[in-house]
Amino acid sequence: MSTDRSPGPGDGTRAVRAGLPEPVKYEPTLPGPVFAAHYHLPGEPTGPYTYGRDTNPTWTLLEDAVSELESPRAPADTVTFASGMAAVSAVLLSQTRAGDAVVLPDDGYQALPLVREQLEAYGVEVRTAPTRGDAQLDVLKGARLLWLETPSNPGLDVCDVRRLVAAAHADGALVAVDNTLATPLGQRPLELGADFAVASGTKGLTGHGDILLGYVTCRNAELAARVRTWRKVVGAIPGPMEAWLAHRSLATIQLRGDRQSANALAVAGALSGRPGISGLRHPGLPGDPAHRIAASQMRRFGCVVSFTLPDRDAAERFLDTLRLVDDATSFGGVRSTAERRGRWGGDNVPEGFIRFSAGCEDTEDLVRDVLRALEVAVPQ
Ligand SMILES: *Cc1c(COP(=O)(O)O)cnc(C)c1O
Repeated sequence: MSTDRSPGPGDGTRAVRAGLPEPVKYEPTLPGPVFAAHYHLPGEPTGPYTYGRDTNPTWTLLEDAVSELESPRAPADTVTFASGMAAVSAVLLSQTRAGDAVVLPDDGYQALPLVREQLEAYGVEVRTAPTRGDAQLDVLKGARLLWLETPSNPGLDVCDVRRLVAAAHADGALVAVDNTLATPLGQRPLELGADFAVASGTKGLTGHGDILLGYVTCRNAELAARVRTWRKVVGAIPGPMEAWLAHRSLATIQLRGDRQSANALAVAGALSGRPGISGLRHPGLPGDPAHRIAASQMRRFGCVVSFTLPDRDAAERFLDTLRLVDDATSFGGVRSTAERRGRWGGDNVPEGFIRFSAGCEDTEDLVRDVLRALEVAVPQ
């Protein structure tokens, strides 16, 4: 154990330096993307860089950076992927065998049911329960892996990670947390006891809406090795350009995350109690059902606000009227986005349900735009 009791760098300091190599005279601060299918490799095929599906120096730097953000106080291993779903599937499919049981949330990301089908086809038993109220505890007995998504997308329910981890570990189950919505700046699942922090880097982690990426971080080298082997087997590797862009974007994660969280809270506060708004959720709202647990395990509450307008027409009018908010899926970008989530058909949400992602606009401008659109959508 280290005896150093200094608090360590702040989030912004850590973010701007995360994963950077030691300075070398005349070399760039963040080396550019390495485009290589293979590397010069005479003799025995060992060493860090052999073939481009296994290793790449640009991934190494990004993976070190994500490890620093997800686990600043203990060594961790990160494996990056071509997308969030590649990372999600890598954990679920590499850690389970026929006959195992897996517990998923029934209100998680909309592609999770597709993974469920795959798991079941391979003979894995899948049980589900809601995120809210730590209901997954009730179906945990004898499971091999507990999958949590907190806050859940798009419902923004929160579960008590420490409590679920304690129960799962006591029962011999591994725990993975989908940390996409919170980002490592908002929540560090490994510090809450989870075995895997898994996320889509497509959203708030990189924040510019221009790349797809995923990652898995864990502290246990054996678990990490299985995930790494899985990536080699399925070949779901990130492109070097994407990995480099992601690393470049990480430097501003604190600036973006702070502004987005503040904007989300301001939008939620402005909508609170307005006629035509129901089911308003944001974990940072003091009155939100998830606020108490969120405050005990999150460091920022994220960019997403969800609420329901009276019907589909009102929701569409709202989205059409917004000027500063793009009608688009995904979230976590520097430009605010919103969508009527029901249009996809995958989530159990009302027709007028809106998932709103606050960007980095000036708070007053964003709130004004949202309230103006609400007035048109639902004449007050
Ligand atoms: C978007 C998302 C994913 C999937 O990520 P992709 O990068 O789109 O593959 C997984 N989990 C959550 C919670 C997400 O929001």
